[in-house]
Amino acid sequence: MPTKMRFEKALLVLVVLTALAVLGQKWVLQETFVIDPTEGLDNRLYNDRLSGGTSQSEMISGAADSYVWRCDLHATGYAYPHCGFEVRLTGSYTQGINFSNYRTVKIWLDYEGPNDSVRIFLRNYNSRYSVASDDTTTKYNQLEFSPAKDQAYYEFSFGDFFVANWWLREKNIPPQLSHPEFNNIVSFEVQTGSGHLPGEHRFVLRRVELVGQRFDTADWYLGIIVVWVVIVLLFLAYRVLELTGEVRERKKREQELMDVNLFLDSRSRELEAKTKTDALTGAFNREGIEESIKNGLWEWRHSAKPLSIVMMDIDHFKKINDQYGHAVGDDILAGISALVKEHIRATDLFARWGGEEFVLVCRNTRIHYAQHIAEKLRAMIAEHKFDGELQVTASFGVATLTGGRSVEQLFKAADDALYQAKEKGRNRVLKEGDD
Ligand code: GH3
Ligand code: MG
Ligand code: MG
Repeated sequence: MPTKMRFEKALLVLVVLTALAVLGQKWVLQETFVIDPTEGLDNRLYNDRLSGGTSQSEMISGAADSYVWRCDLHATGYAYPHCGFEVRLTGSYTQGINFSNYRTVKIWLDYEGPNDSVRIFLRNYNSRYSVASDDTTTKYNQLEFSPAKDQAYYEFSFGDFFVANWWLREKNIPPQLSHPEFNNIVSFEVQTGSGHLPGEHRFVLRRVELVGQRFDTADWYLGIIVVWVVIVLLFLAYRVLELTGEVRERKKREQELMDVNLFLDSRSRELEAKTKTDALTGAFNREGIEESIKNGLWEWRHSAKPLSIVMMDIDHFKKINDQYGHAVGDDILAGISALVKEHIRATDLFARWGGEEFVLVCRNTRIHYAQHIAEKLRAMIAEHKFDGELQVTASFGVATLTGGRSVEQLFKAADDALYQAKEKGRNRVLKEGDD
């Protein structure tokens, strides 16, 4: 699949997930903490005897789906007779539960007794005012309300809680720490109301629900933004890597193509040169002469540049073959070719005409100068010792292109001059017209 399509699909998935995260925020974040007898939480009853009172309290075994207890408050021994029921939310007294992002409390409670109110507490442990050895040092986040006879449950906001005044005074809590706190709640309590009326008080606590969010809504949106930023960054990094790879790959392919072209070019040049070159001597063959002759003709016609040719034939070559063998003859042919090629101008073209005959095409060269070149070559060949000992001579015929003459006639004229050179005793240069 192309990257673009993949990207669009990933983007679509991401957008859908984001929409779900935004729309479903409430359900994802919402959390309920339940207190009821089935949760198996640690609980206990307490009363004012700890403070010198004489009240009594006892759990009443009842149905398994509620906590049931009664208190007999006595107005003797302590000014504020009371009793209470505490549920510990965790196994630890110092490590509670963070309810900072919780909003509501629902309480299923029945009360019968002389007071017209009951109190509930969410007790918060904070080492700035609490000590582990004293369970009166956890903060008393308090609510007081009047239960109605036939109301199933009561719902309050966490904002309805306040910190019990007597506790602030008793513990000498500074104003900075006097507001309700829910970030480390260790226990939930139900206590008789602040009327402190003596008599029998009966309680049935069926269930408490603390409803709120796992964490703050702002954190949820921040998380979504962070996920987006991270994914976009990862995608950008991936694209940069991918593009770098693509560029590298393309460059490699271009280089490969260039290499192939270069190779093909050089191969075709090699083949072309091969077809125009004589294998034994390395001189041009008859095909190879063609281009040079064409160029010379063009120059002669359009720029009036003289075109001269020199025909060369080795003297008594048959004898050399007979005397030293064909292979030695071949060596001499190659040797002469190498020698000549080394001493001619770049514009001169040296070709094997056939057998032991050669032709030198001299563009932009007058006949006298061509004769001069031929003479130089003749002397050089005559002096050379092939294979270090063998000496051969050659005869030369020189001709030039004149008006109304064909190329064929030009070659014929050079050939005639060569014939004359042979006739005159070999090892010499004759140009056309010489006698
Ligand atoms: P001259 O030209 O001086 O009249 O005498 P010549 O002996 O060279 O006579 P001619 O040119 O008629 O003979 C050419 C000989 O060159 C004939 C052949 O045996 C020999 N020859 C031609 N091509 C080759 C070749 O490729 N290799 C060898 N070794 N000999 C060749
Ligand atoms: Mg010959
Ligand atoms: Mg010959």
